[in-house]
Amino acid sequence: MTEAEGIVGEFKSLKRSSDADLLAMQVGDFYEFFDEDAEIVGEELDLKTSKKSSGGTKYPMAGVPVAELTPYLKALVERGYRVAVANQRETDSGHVREIERVATPGTLLETSDADARYVAAVVDGAGTRSRDDDAYGLAFADVTTGRFYVTGVDGDDPRGSALTELYRFDPVEVLPGPSVREDDELVGTIRDRTGATPTLFDADAFAPGAAERALREQFGAETVDSVGVESDAAIRAAGAVVAYVEETGTGVLASMTRLQRYRDADHVELDATTQRNLELTETMQGDRSGSLYDTIDHTVTSPGGRLLKEWLQRPRRSRDVLERRQTSVDALTAAALAREELRETLGDAYDLERLASKATHGSADARDLLAVADTLGLLPELEAAIDAAPKLDDSPLAEIVDTPDREAAADLRERLDAALAEDPPSTVREGGMLTRGFDEELDEIIERHEELEEWFDTLAERERRQHGLAHVSVGRNKTDGYYIQVGKSAADGAPDHYENVKTLKNSERFVTDELEEKEREIMRLEERRGDLEYELFCELRDAVAATAETLQDVGRAIAKVDALASLAVHAVGNDWTRPELAEPGADVEIEQGRHPVVEQTTDFVPNDASLTDDRRFLIVTGPNMAGKSTYMRQTALIVLLAQIGSFVPARSASVGLVDGIYTRVGALDELAQGRSTFMVEMQELSKILHSATDESLVILDEVGRGTATYDGISIAWAATEYLVNEIGARTLFATHYHELTALGDHFDTVANVHIAADETDGNVTFLRTVRDGPTDRSYGIHVADLAGVPDPVVDRSQDVLGRLRDDKAIDIRGSGGSGGETKQVVFDVQSGQMKTATADGGAASASGGEADGAPAEDGGDDDGVPSESGSEDAADIDESAAAVLDELADVDINDTPPVELMAKVQEWQAELDEE
Ligand code: ADP
Ligand code: MG
Repeated sequence: MTEAEGIVGEFKSLKRSSDADLLAMQVGDFYEFFDEDAEIVGEELDLKTSKKSSGGTKYPMAGVPVAELTPYLKALVERGYRVAVANQRETDSGHVREIERVATPGTLLETSDADARYVAAVVDGAGTRSRDDDAYGLAFADVTTGRFYVTGVDGDDPRGSALTELYRFDPVEVLPGPSVREDDELVGTIRDRTGATPTLFDADAFAPGAAERALREQFGAETVDSVGVESDAAIRAAGAVVAYVEETGTGVLASMTRLQRYRDADHVELDATTQRNLELTETMQGDRSGSLYDTIDHTVTSPGGRLLKEWLQRPRRSRDVLERRQTSVDALTAAALAREELRETLGDAYDLERLASKATHGSADARDLLAVADTLGLLPELEAAIDAAPKLDDSPLAEIVDTPDREAAADLRERLDAALAEDPPSTVREGGMLTRGFDEELDEIIERHEELEEWFDTLAERERRQHGLAHVSVGRNKTDGYYIQVGKSAADGAPDHYENVKTLKNSERFVTDELEEKEREIMRLEERRGDLEYELFCELRDAVAATAETLQDVGRAIAKVDALASLAVHAVGNDWTRPELAEPGADVEIEQGRHPVVEQTTDFVPNDASLTDDRRFLIVTGPNMAGKSTYMRQTALIVLLAQIGSFVPARSASVGLVDGIYTRVGALDELAQGRSTFMVEMQELSKILHSATDESLVILDEVGRGTATYDGISIAWAATEYLVNEIGARTLFATHYHELTALGDHFDTVANVHIAADETDGNVTFLRTVRDGPTDRSYGIHVADLAGVPDPVVDRSQDVLGRLRDDKAIDIRGSGGSGGETKQVVFDVQSGQMKTATADGGAASASGGEADGAPAEDGGDDDGVPSESGSEDAADIDESAAAVLDELADVDINDTPPVELMAKVQEWQAELDEE
């Protein structure tokens, strides 16, 4: 091994044995990075690198003190690196260095982020699919709280469903299973959507046998069976996560005590796009502020905040669950004083789930344990506050607080309270953590220590008296230990048994045999105290770790009360009401509903929304900026809020429960935000048409707008028919295709509503009021008017619009020259082209189009007019004009870049000018 010997050689061979990106190797009091790793770390963290000679070669080196590794580790992991940590141990034959843990985004415990940090595994079931296994298995573990979820997804679009789950949990690290990792597109999408670091973990861990063993070992065979994880794919994913957490060696495996399987059927399907469109946890621009969560979050603890967010991302379908939450919120809204008391108490709570993880991991200090004790102590307070308010006492809140193992919680708290000092240090090795009366031996040590301190404290006085010395003091420092200090002027009078140890400018320092003996004793005591306290502390910490499950339960109860109280606070402060929950698929009737976020900043105009038997499908029309998108989103959000158990922004609401909410925003609107393409819009439409059921709520906002008009109308039309005839989902469809409103007359379940705008003296005022029936006009022209387009042009566009609508011929003004005949054209719906028409304006001379139900007539004589159904009067057009029209007819607008189109138009103008 000439390449690298010595310390760097050791570093390199350790590094090779691990698949981490970086290695931090302990060398004495430092963790060192060498060579490339040193350069990366230096760059990323602005650490100074130096050179280290090893085996005759110089290598870059960067180091951090042992005690300060954590923040560096955190920073590196947050930048997406996986960092192996090799610790040094002393053995009889010298140092041994071994990798003891690998810090990765998903297993890093030292986080200050209040959000959950999930590590996820995704397994493609196809590989081992022997029976009707799920298409994908997914497992999610949050080591900071011990949460562990597992599920399988299947159905028409399992890949989409898998992505939806991943988006919901928003993991920081993802372990793609053996065949998933070949799927570049899936892995890429996961990374883009969640920002998770993909880690290629040992493929063997995903094997069914190994995975099942890991899972059973972790959670117990009965648990695995009773929880009912049956799908191979789900087991493989879960087993891989367990193995991964174990392998990274963070020691947090023990905090994962409970395996939770969830089924799609428990939650409202809320795919990734919908979560984004509805701006649940962040806005379309990616800001937290302005999201629904940000708006309604009044929690006072981080677990409460996490839970509320989880509720928003995973609304429930069970009326039972929801009604229980509602009842609690209801009670909390009514009991204002008790609510505030509860929240004040909650405000003192620490993050028990996280503390439990820290205890299991062995990184909790005495302050953490004190935080555990204090938080456990809140439980009786919460109970008392609930007891005292009859309304709360009758609500499920009482049960929530009573669910955890109260006895275990009280025992632990008592034990901790009896042991811990009032204000313990953050160090664990130096004593001072424990209180008197906890341990006899410790008390003896402390007592003797105090006696000795007393002896030292009074020593100066004794020496002064005994030896007649002026200017005597006794001190202690790190280098010299205890000493007697005598001022220069008096130093000559120092007795013989004083031994001079140091000369300072104005004084001399001495020691005596007795002093040294006492000093040795005090040192021995201090060391013993440190060791003993550490030992006792570790026992305490282990006791806390052993109670992890109870702590998680208590933490969960606190989070629930906090989240429910938060919902109540928002309901009271914003005049929200309790919605009635009706059967799945039943009517949605909202009276005077509002948009929960927009109402915060606007003088909001409330609107009704009723999706009932004869109007399950609403076509929403109205001018640009009228409030169509807002109206539809508010409806979706009210339904969603109802399905987390919240009150809703409305005067009253009855919500037939939904099994899924699907929203799509047309590519044009999304394009404005640089997000989407027409292709994506269609993929998403396709997903809805595949997934929605008659119990779903579908919101389509300008879908079809991203393509040419006729394409767009056709797609919108067909999608509407399909949703009405085949699916029967409750739907709101905003469209600027006025043509679609005709469907309202033809289907029993389709109705038109429009958002009214008032027009007086040519000014448009947005009323924001939803009314029945379609809009009667396009307001684009009024916008043109408002923008100052000259009156003749505005009037004329009004006229042209009217004629287009009526399929009447439009005269091309000025085209006849002086005294000549005016040319006329008719817009042909079938071909989407203009055709020349007779001067009398009769539409009959051209195709009437579909609207009339009349088939297009073939004009017959082809005299250069580029149409099958040309006009008889086309002869009016001269040759060059005919040539231009010919070309015009041949241009495929969808296929020609705009710039080219402009060039063409210019060319044609030039040709026509030549006449
Ligand atoms: P559209 O989709 O019809 O173009 P939007 O829903 O985007 O219109 O709304 C346009 C603007 O009107 C937004 O700024 C929105 O905040 C405001 N708005 C919409 N509905 C209301 C309402 N009911 N009350 C007050 N302001 C509203
Ligand atoms: Mg809109």
